[in-house]
Amino acid sequence: MDAPTYDNLFPHRHLLGIVDLSAVEIGFLLDVSDSYVDLNRGADKKQTKLRGRTVINLFFENSTRTRTSFELAGKRLSADVINMSIATSSIKKGETMVDTSMTLNAMHPDVLVVRHPDSGAVKLLSEKVNGAVINAGDGSHEHPTQALLDALTVRRRCGRIQGLSVAICGDVLHSRVARSNIHLLNKMGARVRLVAPPTLLPTNVERLGVEVFHDMRTGLVDCDIVMMLRLQTERMRGTFVPSTREYFHFFGLDSEKLAVAKPNALVMHPGPMNRGVEIDSVLADDITHSAILDQVELGVAVRMACLDVLTDNLRAKVANEES
Ligand code: ASP
Repeated sequence: MDAPTYDNLFPHRHLLGIVDLSAVEIGFLLDVSDSYVDLNRGADKKQTKLRGRTVINLFFENSTRTRTSFELAGKRLSADVINMSIATSSIKKGETMVDTSMTLNAMHPDVLVVRHPDSGAVKLLSEKVNGAVINAGDGSHEHPTQALLDALTVRRRCGRIQGLSVAICGDVLHSRVARSNIHLLNKMGARVRLVAPPTLLPTNVERLGVEVFHDMRTGLVDCDIVMMLRLQTERMRGTFVPSTREYFHFFGLDSEKLAVAKPNALVMHPGPMNRGVEIDSVLADDITHSAILDQVELGVAVRMACLDVLTDNLRAKVANEES
């Protein structure tokens, strides 16, 4: 009997952004992710689902969590995983991103996991290659697997996403994590608030279906989830906050500001964290509130699910073409 395919439930060749997905498709990816959590907690963490497949991690920007967890995800499913380091690649010799991807494409990878500092670059690349492309973060545009792992964390900790009040706080302007989360949370029926100084919010952000606050003490009232964002100085041209000290005073999350949220409110952060800038160090480690390490753990399961589902779709496509 043929192996079951997922393609009726997830009819996409690539994963470029949450904006392209329906609530049902998001729920489906979360269900598949859930099925990998126990495997990752066991002694034998290996499955053979991706045996014979090749995954290339192509990161044009720094990464710790995302690159490592995609590598682990591919290896736990038995794929051959290659990590391309841009520092030692021909990009440094002047080769364009498109030429680099065409070169890699000629080696028949099944999946390219791509991070790039420019919004839209990963989509452009996906139009030039034969395999599946996963966006591991493009500029300040989208970071879909981060939003999926955040959603899995919320769903497992709170039992649901629908109806929850989620405050996303800090440097929304430069954050692909915020953008992907806004799309996902709206699609899944949560209420989204943004809490940030006006300088760190995109213009007309209300159009995305969010409520805007400029004060943590009002923005966090009765919320279930507080997602903190790093000041993304690498994307800043000019000065956006007077000083990090003042920023922490007004927008850094500490237990005093969190006190207006629901008593068991969950604190999240995509990492890397800057302790004492956007989050108080003690609160970041307080496991009664902080889900930050859960997010890291569940990131591996989510990336396994994405690799699994997209390679399954490729397999179904080849089978259709051959029949
Ligand atoms: N790691 C996340 C990203 O790549 C968040 C951050 O860098 O602050 O967007």
